[in-house]
Amino acid sequence: MTTREYDVVVVGAGTAGCYAAATVAREGYDVALLERKPEEEGGHIACGDALKGASSFPDAIPKSQIEPAMTNTGVDHGRFEIPQEDTVLEIPVPGELAVIDRWEYGKAVIEGARDAGAEIHFDTLVKDVRQADDGTVTGVRAMRTGDPVDYEAEMVIDGAGALSILQDNVDFDGSTFDTNVSYSQFCSAYREIVTVDEPVEWSDALVFKPTERAAGYLWYFPRTDTEINAGLGFQMNEEPMHLVEDLKRDLRNREEFDGATVEDKLGAALPTRRPYDSAVAPGFLAAGDAAGLVNPTTGGGIGGAAYSGQYAGEQAVAAIEDGDVGEDTLWEYNKRVMDHFGARFATLDVYNIFVTAYDIDDLMGMLAALPAEKIAEGLYAGETDIGLWLKLKTAVKSVGHWGTIYDLYETKQLAERVLDHYEDYPDSREGFADWQIRRDEILDDVYETTGADPKY
Ligand SMILES: Cc1cc2nc3c(=O)[nH]c(=O)nc-3n(C[C@H](O)[C@H](O)[C@H](O)COP(=O)(O)OP(=O)(O)OC[C@H]3O[C@@H](n4cnc5c(N)ncnc54)[C@H](O)[C@@H]3O)c2cc1C
Repeated sequence: MTTREYDVVVVGAGTAGCYAAATVAREGYDVALLERKPEEEGGHIACGDALKGASSFPDAIPKSQIEPAMTNTGVDHGRFEIPQEDTVLEIPVPGELAVIDRWEYGKAVIEGARDAGAEIHFDTLVKDVRQADDGTVTGVRAMRTGDPVDYEAEMVIDGAGALSILQDNVDFDGSTFDTNVSYSQFCSAYREIVTVDEPVEWSDALVFKPTERAAGYLWYFPRTDTEINAGLGFQMNEEPMHLVEDLKRDLRNREEFDGATVEDKLGAALPTRRPYDSAVAPGFLAAGDAAGLVNPTTGGGIGGAAYSGQYAGEQAVAAIEDGDVGEDTLWEYNKRVMDHFGARFATLDVYNIFVTAYDIDDLMGMLAALPAEKIAEGLYAGETDIGLWLKLKTAVKSVGHWGTIYDLYETKQLAERVLDHYEDYPDSREGFADWQIRRDEILDDVYETTGADPKY
């Protein structure tokens, strides 16, 4: 058994891990970034390849380094195909958006972490954590190219993605770290990279289409006008879908994919839930998917992973400099995440809960009746003033869906309460338990109003 010592150990060379490691390295601390994949597979991650808000990404990795991976920056709207209603909705996407070559991007962020001074260990599968008697995480145990290695560190950052194995092994007793996590709060998703001979007509759009289940969608995202990321996913509280077969069937029915070639296939789980209530424990911080930091309505998680990675890196450095890696010192990380985007994601989760309680045809009928720009605001910002509009236009257009629309309206009021509550996320660990109790009371109202099964 080899033992190695670092100031910080980061697990997972995905977006969160690379931004975290780069941040720590830039401050002059020793950081090891551990990745289970071999170097030649580094950065190869299942994704829809849609990147939102790239220009405002954090700066631990220079933007110029990831820009070459942005293969399509001409996308400005979503194209929602609703076959049940014989409708196609063109919905503007607010802000900047690019479809990227995800593997190139993945390699670029790894390079960014390396350039900043992080030591990257590929072929290193983390299997366990080291934890002191007082509960402080003091490192991890891994197999590196087949040999056991103990990594000792003052701080461990978990960037190991959805359903991180580290969290199965840490004893979180006595800490605030969120352990109310189960498979049913995740989405199982699969994608293929498909090339076609003729350019597709919708190369300026992200194409979405409902799956046969309410809690899933198919997507076609154009990396270029002849290279398409085609995929689908479903919430894991539903009967499992046959992802490969279902995608094949849809591809077969679209004439633009006649004679298409599949270049690459990958699948994975992603959190489609609220952010972890707390992603800190003594000596331990979780970032990105490992802390549930994905927009639960769109599945977009790259931006949240980059920001939370950088914030986790900064917090780890602050704790080391304070000489105290306890939860009180690390708490600021939770607060920053909630203030920046966590509150918004938690609010959007209310609409996810709403969706699971309704029949797909009714939902699609309602969607077809809603104004496009309002749906866009709802999807990305989590807030939209649909009240007056609903009273007028949808009342005429959506006969038959009125009940669902009214329930949506009521759910929106509850979502606003959730947002207000998350904007009041406690500044310190004190008050956290009360904050959770009051949040759960709002969620009880959400379940009662929507008739949805409790998600948490
Ligand atoms: C099919 C699919 C489509 C998606 N589409 C989009 C999209 O279009 N846009 C978007 O913004 N987001 C999308 N997402 C979500 C996005 O990919 C994630 O939110 C983002 O990659 C999270 O980054 P991360 O660094 O937290 O985790 P990951 O990118 O998952 O990285 C985790 C890393 O940790 C490594 N690792 C895991 N366990 C261990 C271990 N025990 N030891 C060592 N290393 C380990 C993994 O190999 C991996 O390299 C999609 C997700 C899926 C699954």
